[in-house]
Amino acid sequence: MITRDEIREISEIYSPEGCALTFYYQPATPSDKSHRHEAIFVKDMVREALAQAELQGKNPCARQDVDRILNMADQLQGNGRKAKAIFACAHRGIWKEYDLPPLLKKTQLTVNSRFHLKPLVPVLDSLPRVLIALIDRTKARIFELADEKLTEKQDFFNDLPRKGKSDGFAGYDAGHAERHELNDAMVHFKTVADYLQSYCQRTHCDKVAIGCRDESWSEIRPNLHTYTLDHLVGQFRIDPKSASPQEVKEKVDLLLAEEDGRRKLDLLSQVIGEAGRDGRGALGLRRVLRSLEMGEVQTLLIEDKFAAPGVQCTNCNHIDINMSHTCSGCGQPTIGVEDIADPLLARAMAAGIELQYLPANGDLDRVGRIAALLRFRADQNTSMKQAS
Ligand SMILES: [Zn+2]
Repeated sequence: MITRDEIREISEIYSPEGCALTFYYQPATPSDKSHRHEAIFVKDMVREALAQAELQGKNPCARQDVDRILNMADQLQGNGRKAKAIFACAHRGIWKEYDLPPLLKKTQLTVNSRFHLKPLVPVLDSLPRVLIALIDRTKARIFELADEKLTEKQDFFNDLPRKGKSDGFAGYDAGHAERHELNDAMVHFKTVADYLQSYCQRTHCDKVAIGCRDESWSEIRPNLHTYTLDHLVGQFRIDPKSASPQEVKEKVDLLLAEEDGRRKLDLLSQVIGEAGRDGRGALGLRRVLRSLEMGEVQTLLIEDKFAAPGVQCTNCNHIDINMSHTCSGCGQPTIGVEDIADPLLARAMAAGIELQYLPANGDLDRVGRIAALLRFRADQNTSMKQAS
């Protein structure tokens, strides 16, 4: 995985000769392509990108790095279901390679004067560590999902002694046994709830998901502790005994995606509402850029299709959508940037701003596919600033 600090460092590298090569590899889903086809596809794509770069008169300095990637194509072979990012500049002796969770939009290669960072957004956006418990009346299985990988942590039966199984007067004992079983189940749910609480607090998991039969949920939920409930994404329907890890992951991924979608829509309407009343919302590129330079931004919302040309100052790094050759801030020369999403993201990374990646959305489209939730508004009174 790549850290924010590494991204910031990568974003600062500038190759005036245009030799900065960025390669993203997203593994094909197993049913999609055979590995052989995938290797051919990667090679074709790389050659095409190289031809494009040469067509645009970019220095053939990326050639060496491109060859190295062509040689890798055969070995990628799905890369163990991991995506990959490579940042290379042979001129400067740079070759940085990272395995990533398979959340990239596509495999792609670019050669430019800066590294291409925007495709990283879906990866950086959110990769929560999720504690998952599959619970039925006698058993519980505990999983953890981190970096897209599911691990079974604990598989335990409730070890309470079985009661009420005596032979004897059938009519009486049957009812007796049922009551015991009911009590056993309640004690078991409570034991599991205690376990979840302590595990969650100890490991600082971001979210909790519970898998069970629908009819058990009403018995399980009241036993969960506040901390667990605060982190609960939801319940999903599954057979706790027979569920395979793959089935668990699919169900949890779906639950997370639904929750993520809801949360982002809420955030977007909050930002739009705040902007409407001149509060803590910024809509559109011009306004977001200004807020970013004023240090106002708390969360940056960026849509899948956002892209805009602009310039960046070679001296103070000021980003501008006015294509001026000199910086409006310090008067020094600027350089053209094909897509200012890249320097913008670098800036956000450096400032520790939270990134939210949104799929195509009509409301966000209308305001220019970019928006921000602000911590404060610099043009408003300072007491508000201090309150943040
Ligand atoms: Zn400047």
